[in-house]
Amino acid sequence: MPKERTPRHPHFHPHDFLVRPGHPLASYEDAADLGKAYSGEREEIDAQTAVDQAEIVALQDRLFASKTRALLLVFLAMDTGGKDSAIRRIFSGVNPQGCQVSSFGVPTPEERSHDFLWRIHPHAPALGMIGIFNRSHYEDVTVPLVTGALTPEECAVRHAHIRDFEALLHEHGTQVVKFHLAISRDEQAERLQERLDDPQKHWKFDPSDLESRAQWGAYQQAFADALHATSTDDAPWYVVPANRKWFRDAVIAHVVAHTLRHMELDYPAPVADLRDYRID
Ligand code: AMP
Ligand code: MG
Repeated sequence: MPKERTPRHPHFHPHDFLVRPGHPLASYEDAADLGKAYSGEREEIDAQTAVDQAEIVALQDRLFASKTRALLLVFLAMDTGGKDSAIRRIFSGVNPQGCQVSSFGVPTPEERSHDFLWRIHPHAPALGMIGIFNRSHYEDVTVPLVTGALTPEECAVRHAHIRDFEALLHEHGTQVVKFHLAISRDEQAERLQERLDDPQKHWKFDPSDLESRAQWGAYQQAFADALHATSTDDAPWYVVPANRKWFRDAVIAHVVAHTLRHMELDYPAPVADLRDYRID
């Protein structure tokens, strides 16, 4: 089968959002509103998002059929960052049989009695699958660091364990891609207020979100440290400008399509010479 050319996005390249170790974006809060500069091109960008989504669906079919690789997508964000709606919108057309979303909440006493990767590893996608982590092992290098349950030295040890864990997944055939959805503090205020005002969103309001909001700066620092310590060639981090939902989804869909394309997936060879068969 001829190798496809990588179609170019008319307005950005995945590398624009890639975290290169040692080359941080100026500030994640500044990154949050980058989509604003693209508002004039929204129609064209939305059209490209639809193209990228269709490509994700087509390539997932090959991933599922060949069962030689897996794709793991990791999502990290402050509360209201848009993880749930980005996952819902971008993957709504994907074959549910080949896709598994795992959400990680506050660890249970049993989970706490094990190492921090114990509860994560069973959810790593099997070959052929797309795994989506709605929160992940990265909660374990942010929440306890901010609350003081973990020292910066202990946290650096966890970063090293995470690099090794993700290298193990990669060696098995799993492409790992990680997204930090960056929103600004002002945008979070508006979204939290909506949860208080809109009866259909009341269920989403969690008073503990206000505690993390009060520690905004400490969380941004913990995210920056984690991203720089764990963005590798085989498990890169992307910082997604997430104040504008349409731009957030455009970036994620394009990076996922780009990643699947580079995995060079193909359908498996037929089990026999199919010309020998006749269906009566
Ligand atoms: P949500 O994703 O909104 O349902 O909320 C899940 C909550 O669980 C968030 O407040 C997370 O910060 C919290 N959480 C998830 N994993 C951990 C962890 N390893 N340690 C502490 N809190 C966590
Ligand atoms: Mg929540």
